[in-house]
Order: sequence, then structure tokens, then C-alpha cells
Amino acid sequence: MTTPLADRFGRVATDLRVSLTDRCNLRCSYCMPAEGLDWLPTDETLTDDEVVRLVTIGVEQLGIREVRFTGGEPLLRRGLLDIVARSHALGVETSLTTNALGLQRTAQALADAGLDRINASLDTVRPETFATITRRDRFDDVVAGLEAAKAAGLGPIKINAVLLRGTNDDQAPELLRWCLEHGYDLRFIEQMPLDAQHDWNRAAMVTADEIFESLSGEFTLTPHSEPRGSAPAELFAVDGGPATVGIIASVTRPFCGDCDRVRITADGQVRNCLFARHESDLRTALRSGASDAVIAERWVVAMRGKAAGHGIDDETFLQPDRPMSAIGG
Ligand code: SAM
Ligand code: SF4
Repeated sequence: MTTPLADRFGRVATDLRVSLTDRCNLRCSYCMPAEGLDWLPTDETLTDDEVVRLVTIGVEQLGIREVRFTGGEPLLRRGLLDIVARSHALGVETSLTTNALGLQRTAQALADAGLDRINASLDTVRPETFATITRRDRFDDVVAGLEAAKAAGLGPIKINAVLLRGTNDDQAPELLRWCLEHGYDLRFIEQMPLDAQHDWNRAAMVTADEIFESLSGEFTLTPHSEPRGSAPAELFAVDGGPATVGIIASVTRPFCGDCDRVRITADGQVRNCLFARHESDLRTALRSGASDAVIAERWVVAMRGKAAGHGIDDETFLQPDRPMSAIGG
């Protein structure tokens, strides 16, 4: 018997995002400052066994059907292969959100461990723009990582892209063309107020409508017939299909009413929303000998308090204290 992770608005979380580390080897300007952040101390980070125990409770007792490991950069996590293998053994779909650095070496081993697919971040196909956005000259390594993931069968590979005004906002069509050529599914995401520096500015954000217009200058986009369900991307067939492109209007057309996600941070806090200002501590329960049933009950309670929406447009909106890299995007 499972207890659903339901909230007061009738939504049920079945999609678990687990952050395996808050560290990263890139410094995307919309995510973190050039000097990095004060990383979580090792003893505050969940161990591999603790991560797997929470995933197991989620799957076996709380109706979780899909587990996505993220970060920070999850490929930096030493125990990743073991965590993936043990999660896969629970019979749920297992995926990874990654910047693809180092994937060249690990893609096959991840596939062998049971990883089903990856989502990767790539905001440009110009090496110089890549270096400007990520503050690292690693474009070729990312491309090699994506190729290795494709060769290892970790598809369909979804690419997430963020457009920044004055930096890459004129590059949407060329990024789409490149993804079509390489067989990757591209999705643009509106920049959200989740940067560690708190530099986000709504007026400067490149909107979903602008992205659509820019792509429409070179491609014919028609709404895709597939029902959207809880998937956040508005999908469009490109030039009649079958290729598609997604646009995720997280800010201008929020999809909170259909949200089916729940997040666990690398230090074992349940977050019922990316923008939540409250977290529920499962690490203390894990480390004080609580039973699986008690941990499951705390998790259920944590979900009940989920807000109806992220409220970015409310006058009272406050950005969460944790940035995206520490929540697990
Ligand atoms: N390091 C991995 C990566 O980049 O894919 C996983 C973690 S990263 C925080 C997850 C996703 O969040 C990436 O696709 C990234 O582009 C996105 N992201 C980070 N900060 C963002 C922001 N302020 N607004 C929108 N998306 C953001
Ligand atoms: Fe690292 Fe991902 Fe943040 Fe870029 S978006 S700095 S790759 S965590």
C-alpha cells in the first residue's frame, strides 16, 4: 500500500528530483557567481546509502515513479554509478540532468548501471559564447559528452537552454538547427529568479513569446498534438515534424497547477516547490534512527503544505534562499 504525496490542491507528486551535490565545474552566469559558492560540508551531505534509502521510501511507500538525479553537477558525485544502479533496481525510470562535462568517460557505465536517459544543458553552439556564459572554455568537452551519451543509448537526449539578453538571445534558431542535425530534443527555459547572486530581472528576461518569434523567423512551428500533461514544455512540431522544440514558460505562463514534482536537496531537505521558502528536514530523521514509516510520514506532511503557485508575479514574492544549484534543478 502506498500513500500518495498529495497536496491540498489535488496535485500528487510522482516525479522525484534528487540533488546529489551543490558543487559544479561550470559557473553559468544565470546560476552562480564566478567564484562559486560556499559548498555544503561533506558531513551535511547525504551519504550514498542515505540517498538510496530515501529513494526507496519514495518509490515503495509514496508512489514515486520517476527519479531524476541532478545538482549542482551530479557527474561530480563519486558514488553516482552505485546510486543509479540501486535506484534502477527499484524499477523506476532513472534519469540525470547534467552539463555533460565528463560524460564522455562515464556515459556507457551509466547506461550499464541502468540509467534510462539524460537531460543536458547547452545554451549556445558558439564556443566563445559558451565560455562567456559558463566562464569555462569547455564547449568541445560538452559536445563529446553528448555524443557519448547518444552512443550509449541514453536517449532521447533533451537539451535545456536558457537565453540571456545581449549574450545568446539571437542564437535560438542556430541552436535548434544544431540540435535537429544531432538528433537532440531542444527545450528553451525562461530564466527564473533562482540565481545565487539575485541578479534576475524580469524586464531583462527573454520571454517564451520572444523565443517563439525568434524561432519562427527560420522555422514553421505548429502546436504539437501530444497532450502536455504535467510536462512543463509547450511542444511545437518543427517544419511539419516529426522533430519538435519545447518552450518552457516557467515565468510568463506558469504550469504550477499541473506540477507533479518533489525535490530532495543534497543535504536531505524535502522541497515541495523550486520556489518554496520552507524545507522539511529528513536528514536529521535519517540520522536519528527514525523508521521508514516515520520518514515517509514526514515527507507526506511536507508535501501537504505545497503552495498553489510560485507567485513570481506577486508583490510579496521573495526569492528562495537557496539558489537553483543547491536545490537541484
Ligand atoms: N548542472 C546540471 C545542468 O546544468 O544541467 C544540473 C543542475 S542545473 C541547476 C539544472 C538546470 O537548471 C539546467 O538546465 C540549467 O540551465 C537550469 N538553470 C539554472 N539556473 C537557472 C535559472 N536561473 N533559470 C532557469 N534555469 C536555470
Ligand atoms: Fe553548474 Fe548546471 Fe548551474 Fe551551470 S546550470 S553552473 S552547469 S549547476
